[in-house]
Amino acid sequence: MRRAIFPGTFDPFTIGHYSIVQRGLAFFDEIVIGIGHNQSKQTLFTVEKRLDLVQQAFQNEPRVKIASYNSLTVDFALSVKADYILRGLRSVGDFEYERTVADANRKLTGIETVILFTESEYSYISSTVVRDLYSFGKDISTFLPPNVKL
Ligand code: ADP
Repeated sequence: MRRAIFPGTFDPFTIGHYSIVQRGLAFFDEIVIGIGHNQSKQTLFTVEKRLDLVQQAFQNEPRVKIASYNSLTVDFALSVKADYILRGLRSVGDFEYERTVADANRKLTGIETVILFTESEYSYISSTVVRDLYSFGKDISTFLPPNVKL
């Protein structure tokens, strides 16, 4: 059984995140989406709302599980018995950060990070941009996974 976590803040979960999980299901048996929350990090959407949006997106996919966590990402991975961390890479901007975190996580626990390049049509989509559009009253449905209602 190959199990990975897909951790993130997901404020909110976008069609770019959705695409990474769908593609990850080709080589992981199960993916646990971990929604990180901690008191010191302000988010626009509550953890309950962020969970709800991800649940809507994967309601017909039994191989995707969803949880929230407020610990270190590797501790969350260990708690759900995952051996891999799945991440997406949009640009060189993401690269240095992902490499540093992946190295630290592997050193700490042996957990490997598997990185997928974003599909080019989604590479400009970030939760930050989606939040900004939402705050100014724009319809953000095209940036959310299919069949997800805010
Ligand atoms: P974090 O706070 O950990 O960066 P995010 O919610 O921003 O969490 O992102 C979680 C993961 O999804 C990261 O690996 C990030 O690079 C990836 N990601 C973010 N946006 C996209 C996108 N448009 N396409 C593919 N992957 C993405």
